[in-house]
Amino acid sequence: MHELEERIKEDGIIREGGVLKVGSFLNHQCDVELFDHMGQEWARIFKDKQIDKILTIESSGIGIACVASRSFGSVPVVFAKKTQSINLDGESYTANVHSFTHKRDNTVIVTKSLLNPGERVLIIDDFLANGCALRGLIQICDDAGVIVEGIGIAIEKGFQPGGSDLREQGYEVASLAIIDNMDPQTGEITFGTCALCSE
Ligand code: 5GP
Repeated sequence: MHELEERIKEDGIIREGGVLKVGSFLNHQCDVELFDHMGQEWARIFKDKQIDKILTIESSGIGIACVASRSFGSVPVVFAKKTQSINLDGESYTANVHSFTHKRDNTVIVTKSLLNPGERVLIIDDFLANGCALRGLIQICDDAGVIVEGIGIAIEKGFQPGGSDLREQGYEVASLAIIDNMDPQTGEITFGTCALCSE
C-alpha cells in the first residue's frame, strides 16, 4: 500500500536491532485517516470472506482494528489483554506470547464468552516480526473453535520469519507494507511486494 510505504519512509525511524519506530502515526499518535484507508484495503482484500469479528492484541492493535471495523460493517473488535484485572471475570483463554519490543513473555487473555465456536475472525495487528503475537492469537482462536479467515498486518518485517511461516501454514496474511531491508545507518528502507494489495 503506497500511502503506508510513503509514510514509513517519511516518518519512520530505524533503530538498531531491526526495530522501526512509527510512533508519530501508528503506535503512539494515531493517524485515523491512514487507519481508515488501511481498513478499506483489508476490506477489499477480504471481500469474499465472511468476517464476524476482528481480534487484535493490546495496545497498538486496538485503534487500527476499531477503525478497520468500520469497513467490515462495524463488526465487534475483541482485543487480547496482557494483564489480568478484576474486570476480567468468568473463564478465559490464555496464550503465552514473547514480546519482540519488550523482550519479555506475556500471558495474553481473552474472556471465553467473547469468542463463540464457529465464528469467523479476522486478526489484525500493527507489526509482524517473528510471529509470536499472532501465534498466540491463533492458539486462542483454535482453543475457542473460531475460524481464522485472514490476518491483516500494517507493517511486516520481511527479514524476520513470522510472515513466511504463517503463509506456509496456509494463513492468508495481508501485510500492507512489507519491509525487506532497513538500514539504521543510511535510513534506507527497501519494500517487498505486497501480493494482495491494490497499489
Ligand atoms: P512478533 O510477535 O511478530 O515477533 O512481533 C510483533 C509485535 O511486536 C507487534 O505486536 C508489535 O507491537 C511489536 N513489534 C515487532 N517489531 C516491531 C518494530 O519494529 N517496531 C514496533 N514499533 N513494534 C514492533
